[in-house]
Amino acid sequence: MHNQDIFDVTIIGGGPAGMYAAFYAGMREMKVKLIEGKDQLGGFLQTYSDKTIWDVGGLPPMKCAKLIDWLVQQAKTFEPTVVFNQSVDAISRLDDGVIVLQTVTGEVHYTRSVIVAIGRGIAEVQKLKLDSAHEYERSNLHYTVQNLNYFAGKNVLISGGGNSAVDWALELAELASTVTVVHRQEAFRAMEHNVKQMRSRVKVHTPFQVECLYGNGERIHQVAISNPATGENIRLEVDEVIISHGYTSQASNLARCGLVMNEGVVAMNQLGETNLPGIFTAGDCAEREGKVRLIAGAFNDAIVAVNSAKTYVEPTAAGMAYVSSHNELFREKNRDLEKIDSLQG
Ligand SMILES: Cc1cc2nc3c(=O)[nH]c(=O)nc-3n(C[C@H](O)[C@H](O)[C@H](O)COP(=O)(O)OP(=O)(O)OC[C@H]3O[C@@H](n4cnc5c(N)ncnc54)[C@H](O)[C@@H]3O)c2cc1C
Repeated sequence: MHNQDIFDVTIIGGGPAGMYAAFYAGMREMKVKLIEGKDQLGGFLQTYSDKTIWDVGGLPPMKCAKLIDWLVQQAKTFEPTVVFNQSVDAISRLDDGVIVLQTVTGEVHYTRSVIVAIGRGIAEVQKLKLDSAHEYERSNLHYTVQNLNYFAGKNVLISGGGNSAVDWALELAELASTVTVVHRQEAFRAMEHNVKQMRSRVKVHTPFQVECLYGNGERIHQVAISNPATGENIRLEVDEVIISHGYTSQASNLARCGLVMNEGVVAMNQLGETNLPGIFTAGDCAEREGKVRLIAGAFNDAIVAVNSAKTYVEPTAAGMAYVSSHNELFREKNRDLEKIDSLQG
């Protein structure tokens, strides 16, 4: 027996695919729930929120953080139910066809259809594996760069060898007092041209790793780095430390429930259908020939998956939503927008 609300569609994952699906399912007048494993929407975009995005159709280049804000705003247009901090790890079905989603923390959700939009899974930043590291997370140990200007005039140490570490080194070289990059491998996993530029502009230590943080419990003042091959040890004066060791993501358990998955990727057909009836998929977690793993690709998948979910729940419904430009659903909202425009002159 289920005495909770039953939703027409429940979307698992609040990245671009899940957020856009929430909007589009609202346009299809479905009762929508979105379940996100973390405490915020945005998905993988949150990991590069400081970067500028150029390749989303029709949008001017903008900071990814701004794109997240706009996606969230759009996702909420039809007021879907959004739940945070719940990671879905089991799907089952009742005798009456209602689908049951269970979360790691024991919550249960009932729905007539599902869109799996779990992307690359729940991304967690790889933290510095030193006991004292967490003491400094609120002061001068950073896992991301939100505001480059904060580092102006400072002595910055960056640990990492990927594109983010190299990009930050290049950008900070323009405004920090000194930038030192430490990477445990000789070779960087970043674009060759950028690595070359970085090596010519900042001090680089390879193969070195962060060995010890020296501080007063409030701020780090010095960092010891060591070369594991030679045992050489160097102490550096620092104002700020940036750790860019990438992300880990937990493997999804949904394959255990009969969903065909291959190394975390869900098989879908041209209609976004998975092997399980009523369960659709969209975004980076979905695979078919010609699949585009970009934000624009996630939007397209979301539309297809929502339309399939709509006709699954309501077989006589049209295959597509009416276009937004001539859609009655937006009449009131358009009037409100026009009022705001005229007030702003
Ligand atoms: C470094 C980098 C730079 C990129 N730059 C660009 C770019 O410039 N332009 C572009 O178009 N694309 C870019 N991309 C690709 C783009 O980020 C992805 O295509 C996009 O994020 C896919 O969106 P998604 O919603 O499918 O998945 P994600 O963004 O991965 O979102 C999935 C969401 O699902 C949640 N989730 C996962 N498992 C569960 C669960 N079991 N229960 C509940 N919630 C769950 C996660 O917490 C997450 O919020 C870039 C990717 C990377 C890695």
